[in-house]
Amino acid sequence: IPRELTYIRDSSIGIENLVIIGSGPAGYTAAIYAARANLKPVVFEGYQVGGVPGGQLMTTTEVENFPGFPEGITGPDLMDRMRRQAERWGAELFQEDVEFVDVRTNPFIIHSSEREVKCHGLIIATGANAKRLRLPREDEFWSRGISACAICDGASPLFKGQVLAVVGGGDTATEEALYLTKYARHVHLLVRKSHLRASKAMQDRVFNNPNITVHFNTQAMDVVSNSKGQMSGVLTKRVDTGEESVLDVKGLFYGIGHTPNSHLLEGQIELDSSGYILVKEGTAKTSVEGVFAAGDVQDHEWRQAITAAGSGCVAALSVERYLVANN
Ligand code: FAD
Repeated sequence: IPRELTYIRDSSIGIENLVIIGSGPAGYTAAIYAARANLKPVVFEGYQVGGVPGGQLMTTTEVENFPGFPEGITGPDLMDRMRRQAERWGAELFQEDVEFVDVRTNPFIIHSSEREVKCHGLIIATGANAKRLRLPREDEFWSRGISACAICDGASPLFKGQVLAVVGGGDTATEEALYLTKYARHVHLLVRKSHLRASKAMQDRVFNNPNITVHFNTQAMDVVSNSKGQMSGVLTKRVDTGEESVLDVKGLFYGIGHTPNSHLLEGQIELDSSGYILVKEGTAKTSVEGVFAAGDVQDHEWRQAITAAGSGCVAALSVERYLVANN
């Protein structure tokens, strides 16, 4: 039975305790904790990823590393469970994108195309999107040969023991390539420029690894498939000579970075140079009191479902504490 807390605002004056923006693991976890604390959170789920709520995991098949599912679970199934758990505890869910946010004064103002909501606490859990190359056959092979997460997919049967390619020349790509050598037979790193942008330490690790071949001045152009419709290679082009060839690989990993969905807050809270929301170390607090951030939108490093869920929990507990202190 939820506790009745005295700091619950009077919704007859139209101000909510808490709005959560986002419906990935961070948003739903925050919603579960906040609803169980009787904050009656309002969640804007958004529909940016594939026209459905649930965030990035809606675009994947098996999730093998989320604790509690020893046999694995599909991304959509995991997200549906989180959604139902949030609903069960009384979170109010709106399948709408937030189009405008004003956090310059409290109560904050949140607008979707359907409604305006005022609130005292706000959790931004809008996630991030892996940058894509937009290859002609990318949609056909997304999660069926193309991936943007070595930690998530490197050990899957699709890629284990295979020859793979990674695209990119920065820290993300070199990290992905090094991680994949744990499982892959060999990894080709396709670098468009004539040099790596990764740190010197990462470059040394790549060049000293006999299981990685670096191809400079090389651009991925498309995916090639065999007669069974499975990915069998990547069509590459030398940017200096224009020469095209096919590299026989069973998987292509994008290591070209992510775009955090923080544009709603641009100019209102502190972001880092890549657009990630800055939080005070070890907390979910942003530069604006009462505004908290969770998940990939504030995490350029780990970007996992479990870390997103963990930070959603921290954000919800922090909002509860903040509302008590400011009642
Ligand atoms: P997201 O999941 O990105 O969700 C953000 C949500 O915010 C979305 O619902 C979006 O619609 C919503 N949103 C954005 N803008 C607005 C707006 N203006 N208004 C309202 N809503 C908005 N991690 C693992 O741990 N294991 C895996 O196996 C794994 N596999 C993956 C496979 C793929 C293909 C991808 C892309 C990622 C994978 N990940 C995996 C990473 C994992 O999905 C992310 O780390 C995690 O989803 C981040 O959660 P999040 O809640 O921060 O954001």
